[in-house]
Amino acid sequence: MPNTLQIDQDDPARQVALANNIRPSILGLDKAELTAIAENMGEKAYRGAQIFQWVYNRGVQSFEDMSDLPNDFRDRLTDTYTISRPESVQEQISEDGTRKWLFGYRDRQKAETVFIPEDERGTLCISSQVGCTLTCRFCHTGTQRLVRNLTAGEIIGQVMAARDSLGEWPTPTDGTRALTNIVLMGMGEPLYNFDEVAKAMRIVMAGDGIAVSRRKITLSTSGVVPEIKRCGEELRVNLAISLHAANDETRNMLMPINKKYPLKDLMEACRNYPGVSSARRITLEYVMLKGINDSEQDARDLVKLVKDVHCKFNLIPFNSWPGTPYECSSTKTIGRFQDILARASITCPIRTPRGRDILAACGQLKTNSEKLSVRERKAQAEKAWAEKEAEL
Ligand code: SF4
Repeated sequence: MPNTLQIDQDDPARQVALANNIRPSILGLDKAELTAIAENMGEKAYRGAQIFQWVYNRGVQSFEDMSDLPNDFRDRLTDTYTISRPESVQEQISEDGTRKWLFGYRDRQKAETVFIPEDERGTLCISSQVGCTLTCRFCHTGTQRLVRNLTAGEIIGQVMAARDSLGEWPTPTDGTRALTNIVLMGMGEPLYNFDEVAKAMRIVMAGDGIAVSRRKITLSTSGVVPEIKRCGEELRVNLAISLHAANDETRNMLMPINKKYPLKDLMEACRNYPGVSSARRITLEYVMLKGINDSEQDARDLVKLVKDVHCKFNLIPFNSWPGTPYECSSTKTIGRFQDILARASITCPIRTPRGRDILAACGQLKTNSEKLSVRERKAQAEKAWAEKEAEL
């Protein structure tokens, strides 16, 4: 809990905060923390639950609008806190309707969030870190150093700001929501920032919060094996694994984290993921890279690898980005690959690329765009990978 709880009416820190207009945002605080704020300000404990509902379920952006709170309490809250969202520095809309926001935080760091509307659902892809410690070679974010973890407030702020933009407050209860699903597949490795991610997701899942069911939330990991079980036990959300290779040799090259947590351990963690069953399967993401991981032998090896794992595949045609050395497999190759998995009774749809024109598709997110030649960008990407691998 931040030290904001200690800011009371006579506290000089509060005066300084007010004078400098740096009131902290309460976004990201859970019900217990909001209850503590109410009690610290001399109010009854149940006021915390009221604030929680106003903020996360009704989406108000001003304490003034919390009409069932006493007037003087609303004034004191206004003097002390904000309910501010991250700033939308840029919003782009793809020709297919996909939206991408570049959100800016108080320290001027930025992260990207993507909304993908479909006929039956709308999926928000959120980021958990600015940059990433990992160096997955097919991923644009992987060329950006980890700047820092996002806080729970900054993670949930992406959901709140997206819903502001979609005009979805108060939370619809009649099945007409545009934003129905959340995936942690944006920038960063969510299991390297699990505490903040978990706190944000608990608020997202709360019935009197944003009220998105755990069944509609998917956490995607590159394979941080020791944290996978914890994720299943504490959050019980759906799990997706960035698999992308059928053997350790190829995966070590594409995803250096595999050297630490090889496929055998990763598959074991998948078999033991709490709540996994034939009705609730793990999604294995597999990006199709020409000449790298797309052979018929790779497909046959995958069939053997995932034996006994309740899973389905998502075959992802590679989405290009500036400076990448990779190309997407041909449609014919992807079709053949899919046939081999399908013949082994493995569900394996080919993902339709979305938002490619605004670099919002899977693996394309990165902040701080660079205006460099293709050669310079390739050189820069190689250098970034080399530096980050040296750090691992
Ligand atoms: S795929 Fe995920 S874990 Fe790997 S570099 Fe990209 S953001 Fe990081």
